[in-house]
Amino acid sequence: MPASGPPYLGRFAPTPSGPLHIGSIMAALASYLDARNRGGQWRVRIEDLDLPRVKPGCSDDILHALDKLGLHWDGKIVFQSERIDAYEEACSRLAADQLLYHCICSRRIVGDAPYPGTCRHRSIPASSQHSLRVLTHGRPVGIRDRLRGDYFQCLEKDVGDFILRRADGYHAYHLATVVDDAWQNITHIVRGGDLLESTPRQVYLQQLLNLPIPEYLHIPVAVDKQGAKISKSMGGLDVLIQGSPARVLIMTLDLLGQKIDQSLAKAPVEEILTWAIKNWHPAIIPLQKEITVN
Ligand code: GLU
Repeated sequence: MPASGPPYLGRFAPTPSGPLHIGSIMAALASYLDARNRGGQWRVRIEDLDLPRVKPGCSDDILHALDKLGLHWDGKIVFQSERIDAYEEACSRLAADQLLYHCICSRRIVGDAPYPGTCRHRSIPASSQHSLRVLTHGRPVGIRDRLRGDYFQCLEKDVGDFILRRADGYHAYHLATVVDDAWQNITHIVRGGDLLESTPRQVYLQQLLNLPIPEYLHIPVAVDKQGAKISKSMGGLDVLIQGSPARVLIMTLDLLGQKIDQSLAKAPVEEILTWAIKNWHPAIIPLQKEITVN
């Protein structure tokens, strides 16, 4: 039977706030293998929107590491810092539909709890420094994750109206990622499970903006022995990527639960990737939310 639907287009979308760590390498490799196994394309998008968090030189380091690991991308790299107009245009569309409001609540006051909608019915003048929030509703919104099954939230209760543009003018990750995934025609998203909780917000924006909803697969999050998410490169990982990228690939495949053929232990990067593309089984990725990396 001929394949139906648009051709597979996957992506890896790192934030250049630090070097690739084992968790981001897992996401890069899993998204790459999933795309190549399906004969699809694999794009790289640098999510350098939140400039205060971006570290100089970090994007180049990430791209260099991907190259060393043999993870070669298709097409031109997209930098979110060059896409501000598109995010602003999406805000204008939502504002025209009366779905946004100005908010002057500071994070210090609201905290991390679901936003109680304090500014929903206030009219904050555009002249005062404000963030933009999107109105949410009480109906469930979510996805059927390819690995984890159904994941739904009631956004109004679980998250509250959320920010699309911060008071300092930066657009929020949720908005930017949704606008870019649609603009780049991304059909499949494979990424860290820490973003599963964000997905209903993204699906909601896709619904409001009338954008296609990709398929999602959330892989486990790499944690250290104390159970904390690994967000910085482990000591020596950068050196290992430079000196022995093949070992990093084998280690990452193992974390992704793939049954590695012993004959690959000493094989070069290209051979490992060829084997891994052919033998990629997303269904055997560990189901647990967190994987401890020693
Ligand atoms: N930029 C995000 C990160 O580095 C990932 C975004 C995504 O995959 O949707 O955690």
